[in-house]
Amino acid sequence: VSATAADGRGARLAELVGARELDLLLVSDLTNVRYLTGFTGTNGACLVGAERAFFTDFRYPERAQNEVGEGWERPKAERELLPGIARRVKGRVGFEDARLSVRQLGKLREAVPRGVELVPAGDLVEQLRAVKDPGELERIAAAAALADEVYRWAIERGLGGRSERQVARACETRIGELGAEPSFPPIVAAGPNGALPHAEPGDRAIEPGELVVFDMGARLDGYCSDCTRTFATGEPGGEARETYELVHMAQLAALTAVRAGARGKEVDSVPRELIEEAGHGARFGHGTGHGVGLEVHEGPRLAATSDDDLRCGNVVTVEPGVYLPGRFGVRIEDLVVVTDDGHRSLSGLSKELTLVD
Ligand code: ZN
Ligand code: ZN
Repeated sequence: VSATAADGRGARLAELVGARELDLLLVSDLTNVRYLTGFTGTNGACLVGAERAFFTDFRYPERAQNEVGEGWERPKAERELLPGIARRVKGRVGFEDARLSVRQLGKLREAVPRGVELVPAGDLVEQLRAVKDPGELERIAAAAALADEVYRWAIERGLGGRSERQVARACETRIGELGAEPSFPPIVAAGPNGALPHAEPGDRAIEPGELVVFDMGARLDGYCSDCTRTFATGEPGGEARETYELVHMAQLAALTAVRAGARGKEVDSVPRELIEEAGHGARFGHGTGHGVGLEVHEGPRLAATSDDDLRCGNVVTVEPGVYLPGRFGVRIEDLVVVTDDGHRSLSGLSKELTLVD
């Protein structure tokens, strides 16, 4: 997050704050603070609107000096930031109701001057975060490329005979060696374990002829990637192959529905209908995709319950799956950038069923 990019974000947020008829927005979520100001410390907050002020405590003067852009005033603050911030606000003040704890809100209420109205102001920063600028797209693409490299490395070493946990751990280490960190603990789920969409890697050895759901991402320079491939340790048999082809076809169809202006629920319905027609509707129990950025799960959502519309510059996953309890699972997940007329994929791995040792 460069200082110049962050300055533009503060100005854009100030516009949204005005449009909500707020005098100020208190941004207390650290990821949102980082997005706006560039600050990467563990205690920070900002006020955006009539003024643009960044607050951190005495531990971070140098970090704030180096990271926080010119456009931010930096008043002195106590270690506990909220009461001091609360004392300087006036008028209608928005707060991040999805992020602030009940306890923090209580402290805020106690400390604000008489006449201040505290207004839940939801996800204003998240709305900005959902549309990525070119610098962010570059970082996400780099994180995705790094994870692809780790996938290739892992496949080369083989999966059969190793435990899910060994494979997952080795990948975490490899991601670290390449200068990144995992964006979430990798999922390696073989055979019946693959039927649990959020399986935890276990100690059972991966056997020949099993499908292996492998979900992994890297975080590089703050930005996340997310990708799933399902591999087979040798020929998995007719029904597993058929299910794989169904999910593959559904995933390609979902990708063709991705473009600026499409509704999140419409994109979700495309693979869902195909999987339903094949008789597995009840076996696809999660949304089709989610936004990815500073967090691995953010807006917009591609799901039946989503009210989000896709916009140019969104980065979303497209990840239908079919999970047959006690037997196996298949999920194929790409990370894509939404464009005016479609999408640009950031996931470089083949989606043909790949047999590995
Ligand atoms: Zn994933
Ligand atoms: Zn995902």
